[in-house]
Amino acid sequence: MAFQKTLQDELKITGIALHSGELSQLILHPAPPDTGIVFLYQKDNKRIPIKAIVENVVDTRYAVTLGKEGCMISTVEHLLAALSGLGIDNLYISVNSIEMPILDGSALEFVKKILKVGIEKQDQIKKYLILEEPAEVDEGDKHLIFMPSNDFKINYTIDFGREILNKQTAFFEINEKTFINDISKARTFTFLDEVSYLRKNGLAKGGSLDNAIVLTDTDILNDGLRYKDEFVRHKILDLIGDLYLCGYPVKGHIIAYKSGHSLDVRLVRLLRKFGEIKEDESEDIELSIDDIVEQVETVSGPRFHITTSSN
Ligand code: ZN
Repeated sequence: MAFQKTLQDELKITGIALHSGELSQLILHPAPPDTGIVFLYQKDNKRIPIKAIVENVVDTRYAVTLGKEGCMISTVEHLLAALSGLGIDNLYISVNSIEMPILDGSALEFVKKILKVGIEKQDQIKKYLILEEPAEVDEGDKHLIFMPSNDFKINYTIDFGREILNKQTAFFEINEKTFINDISKARTFTFLDEVSYLRKNGLAKGGSLDNAIVLTDTDILNDGLRYKDEFVRHKILDLIGDLYLCGYPVKGHIIAYKSGHSLDVRLVRLLRKFGEIKEDESEDIELSIDDIVEQVETVSGPRFHITTSSN
């Protein structure tokens, strides 16, 4: 039987926000069983609770923004991916800024800090969301399909149609260990021409090579990649974070083709509407900081070039 989980202690995380460039601080607090993931936005001595569920999504351009009573919190997907990936069911997250810290552009710092403070097993059985039939959302040539399954599996294909980055496909069965080592380290990425557009629009002020992979038409500006298919793995990371807006972990086989936050959120709305909440009969996995495999972590080393294919 798997049990619900929270943190063993409070945890503070501080860093630069990607778009505003301002310093952002989070405090993660343990929460009782069946709380879910709840952001607490500090406003005029009042704490406005904003639950991490799709009904509170107010924007999906560039990142996922949650909002309620005039308060907004942006770029929640990487933290939500870490919480989903590590099996954290219940947490309060105090925020002092409208945007989450970007850290290194992946979920690795969240994972490391959470494993360091420790995960607490609670006395209520873990719940998850299932749907007994397939579901699909589309937008032009973008597709996102849900197939019923007893496991959580993702097939993802990206195609940016650029010489430096066109097609990448990856498949993972997502569990705590594959999440930590195969997904959580994959960084967000952008194209240099998009950076200038974002900056003109007052965005990406905190963006740098320390928190994103930046691609030109012919090269990668960073020193190296963490995985040769780091791009598609980051999209899987985003999808895991977005799927956690179901309010529960999902069991199902997800097939994504050129998806993004807006399509992800549309699928989550369907899953919330037609899905069923069940108790988890699988076994619990104990995790520790030792589960992070160190050798894949480094970004230095030989510069990696993507081989392009012409399909
Ligand atoms: Zn992302």
